[in-house]
Amino acid sequence: MGALCDRFGRRIEYLRISVTDRCNLRCIYCLPACGIKWLPREEILRFEEIREIVRVGIALGLTHVRLTGGEPLIREGLAELVQMLAAIPHLEDLSLSTNGVLLSRDARTLARAGLRRVNISLDTLKAERFHAITRFGAVSDVQAGIEAALEVGLDPVKLNVVVMRGINDDELVELGRLTIDRPLHVRFIELMPIGDFFSRERLVPSEEILACLGALGELWPSSGPGGCGPARTFALDKAQGTIGIIGAVTQAFCAQCNRLRLTATGQLRPCLDDTAAVDLKPALRPAIDPGRLAELVQQAVEAKPEQHSMAQRDAGTPRFCMAGVGG
Ligand code: SAM
Repeated sequence: MGALCDRFGRRIEYLRISVTDRCNLRCIYCLPACGIKWLPREEILRFEEIREIVRVGIALGLTHVRLTGGEPLIREGLAELVQMLAAIPHLEDLSLSTNGVLLSRDARTLARAGLRRVNISLDTLKAERFHAITRFGAVSDVQAGIEAALEVGLDPVKLNVVVMRGINDDELVELGRLTIDRPLHVRFIELMPIGDFFSRERLVPSEEILACLGALGELWPSSGPGGCGPARTFALDKAQGTIGIIGAVTQAFCAQCNRLRLTATGQLRPCLDDTAAVDLKPALRPAIDPGRLAELVQQAVEAKPEQHSMAQRDAGTPRFCMAGVGG
């Protein structure tokens, strides 16, 4: 296996794959209430095409893959894709990001297919608030999904909380407490200026999140439950899980950025914060050309910018939303 490095000496080993642009929720910070114009189905990558991209990526040096969306669990036959990817030699880590709404239905099938771990979005524990944030959802469905993930042995189970001032910042302690009795790993994420919901006032900086969590007791630096993300990780005394803080905006971790993002239509994005992308479709259709695919993946790696500019922005970029690129 090779080693994939960009112009700034960063090793690129992680590919996030959006398997659909569609979602069964409309989180206020992610999608407009009316949704977005969904992409025509024939433009969405087929499972065989995704498998080939992963195969080529692994030969070049990728080791970690995450399936995301939109909501990946609404992509029909997702377990089949998991099985196809899990069978690729030298893939060290295969994970999933989901809103958890359908996870109690799918957790066992996904685990059997070869999924190892899962990140579940959970911004609040309050039923009404959950409905207000997601515009559609029931928090009880997500809670059932979390139970199912634990039951079938997905490990670690991480819970992603996007922290928003005036919306859920009064719940951080309660959410952090989830890590005490169960092996749940709660990660608090700064609201990013992507999509038009963002404002400076709504952003709660990671240092403030950390200070607020101090009410739970001493937070000890911890190595975390594994994965290849950018969280600063802590644990409470005798807790079974950990608390992670992701300062995506105020403590940009671009120097450690190790990832590429593949959209549902085959656009390979070098940076979350930039719509610039390398189109892989010409190497996939009408026939898959692994050599050309490898060249295009290298091209995306070379195009990675040194850093994003999220910290400098006072407003979100309305030009794209997170659902399109998988977070
Ligand atoms: N539907 C799946 C889910 O809920 O995890 C996968 C897609 S979702 C776009 C991936 C992650 O992006 C979620 O954890 C979500 O909370 C996060 N996200 C979306 N918009 C965001 C924003 N503006 N700032 C920070 N995180 C955001």
